[in-house]
Amino acid sequence: MPTADGLCPFATQRPITNSENFETGRSGQRVKAVVLHIGEGPLTAFFPTFSNPARKASAHFTVGKQGEIEQYVSIHDTAYANGLRWDNGMWRNPRGIQVTPAWQGLIPAINPNYYTISIEHEGFFGEAWTEPMYLANLKLLQWIRDETGLSYARGETLIGHNDFDNIDRPNCPGPNAPFDRMIADLNGGDARRAALIAGANKIGVPLNDQSALAKYALQNRLGIPLTDEFPFTVGGMPYIGQVWSQAVVYVKVGDFGNVQRT
Ligand SMILES: [Zn+2]
Repeated sequence: MPTADGLCPFATQRPITNSENFETGRSGQRVKAVVLHIGEGPLTAFFPTFSNPARKASAHFTVGKQGEIEQYVSIHDTAYANGLRWDNGMWRNPRGIQVTPAWQGLIPAINPNYYTISIEHEGFFGEAWTEPMYLANLKLLQWIRDETGLSYARGETLIGHNDFDNIDRPNCPGPNAPFDRMIADLNGGDARRAALIAGANKIGVPLNDQSALAKYALQNRLGIPLTDEFPFTVGGMPYIGQVWSQAVVYVKVGDFGNVQRT
């Protein structure tokens, strides 16, 4: 049963009161997607920013690193988080620069803020999400689903700011936002992943399945981890390796997108 007021019962309510930073209602649009952002700052910075009429900016929510959830705008109203301006058949970002949005859900000539819900996150795009932040974000996404009837698919109904603005916001929320894990958890969990983690724990090798090595080993079905990750060097360069039952996986430190296997 959706709430009447669009206010999340487990969020700390910090409503914005000035009309420069949000709009009442959604101009007749319905919510089509949830947009994730990284705030590039501490939790304490959001409410003052969103309360400052000169900024003309807001989000519906911020999730903090300790699992805090703040709400500033009802999900029935329009936050100013990922606005684009329609200009003669093209989209321009707030600086007036033409952008090429990846999101296919855009409605020509209609500002996407009217049909999205935006969640900010504490911290910086280069930082890994804390587990409390991940879990609070997940709980919030589940509540939004109950309220709106959305079903989540990456790139369609669960997107990033970068899916609107590839010029000024290419790293919002950035590569550390765990979209794949969210989608798996939101859609009933991933039994294979759960089995692997349980199995790894059983043999005494606690598995962080978000590490670059584990992600690679999982994708390539290399069995189960037999050791923790360990450092080694090649020609003076630092590497990290891990023994899996089908191969040793390894990667040069700093080049985590380029995992190799034996
Ligand atoms: Zn953003």
